[in-house]
Amino acid sequence: MSTAKTILIVDDSEINRLILSRILDNTYVILEADNGQTALDILKKHCDIISCIVLDLVMPIMNGFEFLAKITADEKLRTIPVVVSTGDDATSNEINALKAGAWDFVRKPYVADILNFRIKNAIERSQLAAFTQLKYLAEFDTLTGIYNRSKLYSETEKLIKDSPDKSYVVIRFDINRFSLINSFYGTDEGNNLLIYLGHCIKEVVSGFSEYVYGRLEADIFGLCIPFVSVDKTIKIIEDAISLFKNYNNSYDIVPCFGLYIVRDHTLPANIMFDRATLASKKCKGNYIECFAYYNEEMRSRLELEQEIINDMNFALQNNQFDIYIQPKYNIVTNTPAGGEALVRWFHPQKGMISPAEFIPVFEQNGFISKLDYYVWEKTCKQIRSWLDCDRHPHPISVNVSRVNLYDPHFVEKITALVDKYQIPHELFQIELTESAYTDNPEAMKKSIINLQKNNFTILMDDFGSGYSSLNVLKNIPVDILKIDMKFFSETEVGGRGQNIVASVIRMSKWLGIPVVAEGVENAETVKFLREIGCEYIQGYYYAKPMPVEQYDLYACSNAVFRKDYAKTSSNETPMNNPQIDMVMKTFMQPVAVFEYAVDKIEVLRVNDSYYNLFCYEDSALTRHDMTEVVAEDCRQDVFNAFNEALKTKEVAECDYHRLSISNEKMWINLKIKYISSIENKHIFFGCLTDITAQKEIDFELHKFRNALNSSLIISNKMLIVDDSTVNREYLKLIFEKQ
Ligand code: C2E
Ligand code: CA
Ligand code: CA
Repeated sequence: MSTAKTILIVDDSEINRLILSRILDNTYVILEADNGQTALDILKKHCDIISCIVLDLVMPIMNGFEFLAKITADEKLRTIPVVVSTGDDATSNEINALKAGAWDFVRKPYVADILNFRIKNAIERSQLAAFTQLKYLAEFDTLTGIYNRSKLYSETEKLIKDSPDKSYVVIRFDINRFSLINSFYGTDEGNNLLIYLGHCIKEVVSGFSEYVYGRLEADIFGLCIPFVSVDKTIKIIEDAISLFKNYNNSYDIVPCFGLYIVRDHTLPANIMFDRATLASKKCKGNYIECFAYYNEEMRSRLELEQEIINDMNFALQNNQFDIYIQPKYNIVTNTPAGGEALVRWFHPQKGMISPAEFIPVFEQNGFISKLDYYVWEKTCKQIRSWLDCDRHPHPISVNVSRVNLYDPHFVEKITALVDKYQIPHELFQIELTESAYTDNPEAMKKSIINLQKNNFTILMDDFGSGYSSLNVLKNIPVDILKIDMKFFSETEVGGRGQNIVASVIRMSKWLGIPVVAEGVENAETVKFLREIGCEYIQGYYYAKPMPVEQYDLYACSNAVFRKDYAKTSSNETPMNNPQIDMVMKTFMQPVAVFEYAVDKIEVLRVNDSYYNLFCYEDSALTRHDMTEVVAEDCRQDVFNAFNEALKTKEVAECDYHRLSISNEKMWINLKIKYISSIENKHIFFGCLTDITAQKEIDFELHKFRNALNSSLIISNKMLIVDDSTVNREYLKLIFEKQ
């Protein structure tokens, strides 16, 4: 193959083209065009091989100037050098041609040597320009103008290796949720921000005598500076953050920094930056701690993760995974209420590995969907075998990783699997973690609705762990909530965590959603949960996850989860009614919102004074029926008052007594006002007054009167005071007879 360069001659005169070809065809391959348009057509096909164009200016169809204008406007063509051939008297043409983008010119008649030199020079200059451009592209990031990844790496290595006695720190950062800036404000705005970040790094490092910085990719930047002290490094980060914050007021720029203090100067730079990246993962999404240092533990974690990945496929094929079941209990009826299937990995060398070790890794590499399917199938087989021996198993729930929600056929797959084993759908429950909602609310909602259409029960796992718990409840019709007690660690009496748990349970009762409290480890928590009306419990206090055979021994009754709570159709409930909100806040005396249905009265909301009066433990709040705390002899009075208020749609009142938290009798006056009805449920507003003292006085008075009466009756004597003897005698006659 010829290595000769190709020249395109553009001239309408055949003679000129012939002369030029003769001069040049010893050195070059020649292509010819007789006007600008034909030349463009040739360029379209062969632009990559054309090293130079010799261009006549005066031509039909498209003249030389028009041609020049076209190719200088084209990014690809503008790099091909153009030597213009002009008549010897046309100086102005030469100037205009140079202005229009010609690289050089030759005059007719052609002098062979001059022509050859000018073409050779033009080609060499263009090669140099191309080389410079390539070199720039190879080393610099075209957007920000700072080093790109490979140059940053090579310069970092150079810096560190040149000074083996000095300490350095490698820093990597990116911006939390940068993609949102792109999608909300557009890519141009995203690009401007990236350029700005590049300037910021330049500014912060400029105080050092040596430094390297660059853009690794997307919104990820890296730098390497001398390590003086932790404080000094933190100062650099703080300086960078405050510069970032100056960028604009319309959104927050929250960076996440990972740092690796270079211990091993011989490591390749990519490994150093990988370590900084690993460290940054620790603070990703954390809005308070925005930087973290790499440590060796992170590396061993990484190695462990790699081992898990290496072994996973073999393990699945060789049945190293199995299920354990953790029972759930109904603490109202004290009976088992089903179980949750939890995967376990029995590794031949490492023994049993906990899912906390491998599930996060599998969620990242997608293997979790295979493993989940395997676990669901094992669960189906287990339920099938119980059914086959005529057992009446409780439902078993399985975990469904968020990754499955991205699979458009997920619902069909799970349904087909459960049907393959002919398992009644209500025995196979599905747990979805609340945090998946944040990733993909629409997919989650869609899957849940479809699963419910197929008669599956959906448990919202880890409720309260994410930022969107309330949105989840508002937007997704889950059947059962699971709250993990470890998310509410302040479990001491009256603690915030306890209040949240109590509110969640109250709220879920109002919505008709049963709650399973998970992670229950001690009797105190069970007592608390019972008091606030939580029905279901799962936790070490009752049973740890156990092999299936052991679980078998536990499952002996038919209790199933209740799904029969009436759900209200109204959007506005006493829980979210703004007027009630205001009343609850402004009333100084204890007030409550009640719901009265057929034969029970439930407390839906109370204000702070109510808490002060009854203390938090007031079981009326946490029971289905508030009359359970009312003394038996007063219950009918309470129901009568509610019935009267319902009939008159007005106010009614009653007095009742009950026991206080310290087991003392307390008297309450209850005034209730009818508010509204939803189907057969009626909402009342109630004011409660502690009338214990008054009742005590009444009672004392009553006692006194009785005592007085009885003493008079027992002694049977009456004092008649009258000045008239006749009257005295007359009265005596009357009373002596009785
Ligand atoms: P999870 O779904 O929230 O499951 C409950 C976890 O809490 C289980 O841990 C269980 O053993 C533990 N637990 C239950 N009661 C207590 C208690 O009283 N105290 C304490 N400290 N822990 C308790 P496990 O089995 O290690 O599973 C951890 C997580 O791994 C699960 O959390 C779940 O997210 C995931 N997982 C387990 N099996 C599977 C599976 O088959 N598929 C998927 N996608 N995830 C699974
Ligand atoms: Ca679960
Ligand atoms: Ca959970």
